[in-house]
Amino acid sequence: MTYDVHIIGGGLAGSEAAWQLGRRGFKVRLSEMRGTGERSPAHQTDALAELVCSNSFRSDDDQKNAVGLLHHEMRRCDSLIMGAAAKAQVPAGSALAVDRDVFSAEVETRLRSLPNVQIVRERIDTLPESGMTVIATGPLTAEALAGSIGRATGADSLAFFDAIAPIVYRETIDMDVCWMASRWDKGETRDYINCPMTQEQYLAFHQGLMDGEKTAFKEWEANTPYFDGCMPIEVMAERGVETLRFGPMKPVGLDNPHWATPEHPNGRWPYAVVQLRQDNKLGTLWNMVGFQTKLKHAEQVRLFRTIPGLEKAEFARLGGLHRNTFLNSPVLLDRQLRLKTAPHVRFAGQITGCEGYVESAAVGLMTGLMTAAELAGREWQAPPRTTALGALLSHITGDAEADSYQPMNVNFGLFPPLHDVKKKQRKEAYTERAKADIGEWLGTLTPSA
Ligand SMILES: Cc1cc2nc3c(=O)[nH]c(=O)nc-3n(C[C@H](O)[C@H](O)[C@H](O)COP(=O)(O)OP(=O)(O)OC[C@H]3O[C@@H](n4cnc5c(N)ncnc54)[C@H](O)[C@@H]3O)c2cc1C
Repeated sequence: MTYDVHIIGGGLAGSEAAWQLGRRGFKVRLSEMRGTGERSPAHQTDALAELVCSNSFRSDDDQKNAVGLLHHEMRRCDSLIMGAAAKAQVPAGSALAVDRDVFSAEVETRLRSLPNVQIVRERIDTLPESGMTVIATGPLTAEALAGSIGRATGADSLAFFDAIAPIVYRETIDMDVCWMASRWDKGETRDYINCPMTQEQYLAFHQGLMDGEKTAFKEWEANTPYFDGCMPIEVMAERGVETLRFGPMKPVGLDNPHWATPEHPNGRWPYAVVQLRQDNKLGTLWNMVGFQTKLKHAEQVRLFRTIPGLEKAEFARLGGLHRNTFLNSPVLLDRQLRLKTAPHVRFAGQITGCEGYVESAAVGLMTGLMTAAELAGREWQAPPRTTALGALLSHITGDAEADSYQPMNVNFGLFPPLHDVKKKQRKEAYTERAKADIGEWLGTLTPSA
């Protein structure tokens, strides 16, 4: 069969993109390497859209939860992944969890019901030089293709590991304790939020890092080249009690105005400092500089809330280190997820730098819709950024800071803020606004068959 679009990777994103295109009558070749005797180290089966770890799509609450809202919007776009999840659902309280085998079988059955979608078990090793292409090969993209993408995008633009420092919602940082300043600040560039520590607090924090429970690396993640450049904070702590004070927690040049005295009217340098840097253009998310970590999530929340000013911190995401192939999308991709240097190639799923099953499928869905619009000669209109789909897309294609770009789940910090709404009602206000705004946008889509 000749085809209009070649989708490479039959995971969550690739399957969803194929569905959106196939439903609109376009001919799709979906290439999946599993089934040829090849598998990534995390995949266990040859089934399409395999869930490699948990069987949960997280919260299904579309009133107060950003991922629940994303479920809602995807359902309204006739999502394959949401449809198959409904068929495979198992009881899990307010979460949407599935029987993974039933789920994958349903994805394949639905795709096979579309005569214009051809599923081919083959591994693709190079970026196609022409023809409409969608790359959806995920965080564990096979080596040869990753090399080809790396050559096309530049070695620094394709990461093979993520090193995630925790990200904090700005509104949960106590600015009566913290202050804004850059090192040796003369008042002109107050770019960082600084959390001050006394000697006693620093020593207790250091001990907490040493004692904290860590997540072990999987066997296939060991010996990464990655650690030369970006060391977990607890590994730095193990090198000596002072290492962090000469590294990411260096206090020099940081006068704390909250500690001002008549002799020191500008304030004093703390014993150590935790710095946070703005992580998105909206200024709602701030990352803890140099705090990439393998500490267990509960341990991170407990320990990082002992940092002065972060006692009530809420985390948009916690730190982690994983094998993860992803692009520096804000730099490399245009607003339609096309490679700027080769616009016949689009990307979908986790390789774009989103994180999670649902987000990967959501980006696959949008990539499918964009491709359908281009094939139909229609102008693509992006979902409003007040919606979960739009907020995620904006983050990937321009709102995130390119220098510190790391994989991200959908969260309300990506939405244009609603400062006027009381904090208690804000989540509902975000979801209500999104639900109102998504309706009109649905009318702009290329009609499905
Ligand atoms: C170990 C691990 C555990 C994770 N656990 C969770 C979790 O519990 N919950 C969660 O929400 N997210 C989790 N994620 C994150 C992420 O959401 C999933 O990896 C998700 O499956 C990504 O979807 P995707 O479609 O982008 O990639 P995938 O679902 O991985 O699909 C990519 C597909 O491309 C195929 N492929 C790769 N290279 C080639 C090639 N050259 N030619 C043809 N086919 C190719 C692969 O076989 C695969 O089927 C996890 C990730 C990893 C790595």
